[in-house]
Amino acid sequence: MDLTPPSSIGLVGGGLAAFWAAQTLRAQGYDGRLLLVTDEPHAPYDRPPLSKEVLLGTRESARTELLGPELVAELDLELVLGDRVTDLDVDSGRLTLESGIRVPVDRVLLATGGRARALRVPGADLPGVTVLRTREDAERLRTLLVAGGPVVVLGGGFIGLEVAAAARALGCEVTVVEAADRLLARAVPATAGEQVARAHRASGIRVELGLGVATIAGDDRVREVVLTDGRRIAASCVVVGIGMTPADELARAAGLEVGDGVLTDAGQTTSNPHVLAAGDVACSPDPWHGGRVRVEQWQSAQVQGVAAAHTMLGLAPPAPPVAWFWSDQGEVRLQVAGVPARGRDVVRRGGDGDSCTLHLDAGRVVGAVSLNRPRDLRGAMLLIESGAVVDPALFADESVDLRRTARATSPSGRR
Ligand code: NAP
Repeated sequence: MDLTPPSSIGLVGGGLAAFWAAQTLRAQGYDGRLLLVTDEPHAPYDRPPLSKEVLLGTRESARTELLGPELVAELDLELVLGDRVTDLDVDSGRLTLESGIRVPVDRVLLATGGRARALRVPGADLPGVTVLRTREDAERLRTLLVAGGPVVVLGGGFIGLEVAAAARALGCEVTVVEAADRLLARAVPATAGEQVARAHRASGIRVELGLGVATIAGDDRVREVVLTDGRRIAASCVVVGIGMTPADELARAAGLEVGDGVLTDAGQTTSNPHVLAAGDVACSPDPWHGGRVRVEQWQSAQVQGVAAAHTMLGLAPPAPPVAWFWSDQGEVRLQVAGVPARGRDVVRRGGDGDSCTLHLDAGRVVGAVSLNRPRDLRGAMLLIESGAVVDPALFADESVDLRRTARATSPSGRR
């Protein structure tokens, strides 16, 4: 492969990163061959509704589709479904698919995402034990939840808590078992994790912290979960939400540098200049803490897909927006912006049920965590973006509208 402008681009994977790369390539004027290969039977679709509306039955799983036939035609995209890239030959510039198809390419985007981490205890393969990653998983899980019966959720992360809330809303008895001593330990500060735990307990969900599962017992299907402290919990359905692992085997086999995912630079280029990576599989520079980080969030997949498309065309990627993610868990709408861990001072607005904490460094807002205060969160994002220095006393005052404050702050405070 040489580095002249590309005339054939292969997008490997059918998630959000590949979807945004395809759209951006065409929007930026790329008119060569564009191929997208996904091993799923569907065109790219949006995953966030799978653990919320699809489980609740308020949205058909087919209505998560991002790339309908009209857009495929408009983008002049060769969409290959239900097939896998089994070999990436970086020297000759060729993708080989499981079906035997070989495609010459001069740029490749690895957007292969990841897989739900498997639980390795006896009984983990019993019918009724499931993960949630794909549309099929969501449909199968909805059937299990609608049948009623006790549900045990392993993992108090995003999947676990969103599924627990949906199961509870459907009337199931729900127990969440989390190995750490608090919920969402890696994603939000301790106080927010405690608030989330209180909200779930108030809705009738049992939350067991600092425990794992020893075995899953059953006969022709799951019947109970045996915890590491010996207690047994009845279960007609067990949902395993204990994290994900990057699908980086293609990159490894191709000899690319891989750590916790496929290593890239800030423009998403891997150790080979013709191959890029984006989304859950990519491990990219961390502007705040140094080194590289693999971010498993929706917005990051979008931003990296857009950036990779620009890089492939020799263009500078747009400046990334303020990082942001959300998780809807029944009555709890959790939103996190920026990098709260960068803050040295914390100002809190609101009470236990709804609150927004602003995380400040030298008077500037660098992160925010909101529970059911979306308006405050939007204001905080503007403040993070502006980099303005504002008196923290103002933030603590409930009568102050953060969005107005952000707009009113002088641009001289910008970084
Ligand atoms: P996750 O958010 O990483 O949470 C997994 C949780 O399970 C962690 O707290 C983990 O603790 C715990 N855990 C690990 N092993 C366990 C065990 N044997 N028993 C009990 N708990 C255990 O991952 P996830 O919830 O599975 O979600 C998978 C992916 O989907 C992630 O990339 C997530 O970001 C994404 N997702 C995002 C959203 C959203 O942003 N709203 C929604 C759904 C899914 P340790 O941290 O100590 O390992």
